[in-house]
Amino acid sequence: MTRIVIMGAAGRMGKTLLQAVDENEQAVLAGGVVEASSSLVGVDLGELAGLGKCQVMAVDSLDALRADWDVLIDFTAPAVTLENAAWCAQQGKALVVGTTGLNNEQKAALAQAAQKVPVVFAPNMSVGVNLCFKLLEMAAAALGDDYDVEVVEMHHRHKVDAPSGTALGMGEAVARALGRDLEQVAVYGREGMTGARARETIGFATLRGGDVVGDHTVVFAAEGERVEITHKASSRMTFARGAVRAACWLKSRPAGLYSMQDVLGLN
Ligand code: NAD
Repeated sequence: MTRIVIMGAAGRMGKTLLQAVDENEQAVLAGGVVEASSSLVGVDLGELAGLGKCQVMAVDSLDALRADWDVLIDFTAPAVTLENAAWCAQQGKALVVGTTGLNNEQKAALAQAAQKVPVVFAPNMSVGVNLCFKLLEMAAAALGDDYDVEVVEMHHRHKVDAPSGTALGMGEAVARALGRDLEQVAVYGREGMTGARARETIGFATLRGGDVVGDHTVVFAAEGERVEITHKASSRMTFARGAVRAACWLKSRPAGLYSMQDVLGLN
């Protein structure tokens, strides 16, 4: 049994993670952390997730938890996640990070924590998306430089970072397969007199609106045909189930930085 703590338990993903732990037979809820200023401190986490009482109460910090748990699942915000990663490295706790929008410095700090404890970090925890990463590598390798690559994503109106971590991950997968450096070739949105498209670029377009959980399409366009690889998430449960699966997998691993591809055996 993997004893799991949910960070940001009151968030959209936090509540969904509470439900995913509840339905997973290999996992048990050991605690949940909400913001210290929240009126939800002390509330029963089962009730918070609409599951009925579970006798595990929301606390206001990791220090306020009892010590007997295995893995922290964190879907919050980059600065918060980094503080928690340092705490986990110090306390010897495994960590699953779903937070997106980390800059290069923050990614390096997370990798440093992973030298001490096992960490899974994935911008998207869904099985389908991780399969798409694999399909994208195959498509890019087969189609090569003759096809223009564009990534289009849409998310709900509350999302704060753009393009999505998943869109960037898809762009990276294609760039790697084509021997390009995404930092050099990425184009984030276009406006005005942009001139003709440079062949090696990988374009990103971001749409925001309504309650869209997460749509991603990678377009490979050549003269005469177009290949599109699309993933559409219709429920946050797909990410939450993946995160809980990652937590159970991570419990018995040595320190290191792992991806969802590792968890799913796709590497
Ligand atoms: P959200 O705003 O609904 O939830 C974030 C929660 O974190 C809030 O409840 C907030 O109160 C809490 N929080 C912030 N600081 C805290 C602190 N110091 N202590 C405790 N709690 C704190 O956002 P969301 O839609 O749930 O998304 C959260 C993150 O997860 C985003 O970065 C999003 O992009 C990412 N996400 C990743 C995946 C994936 O599969 N990897 C899927 C969906 C969302």
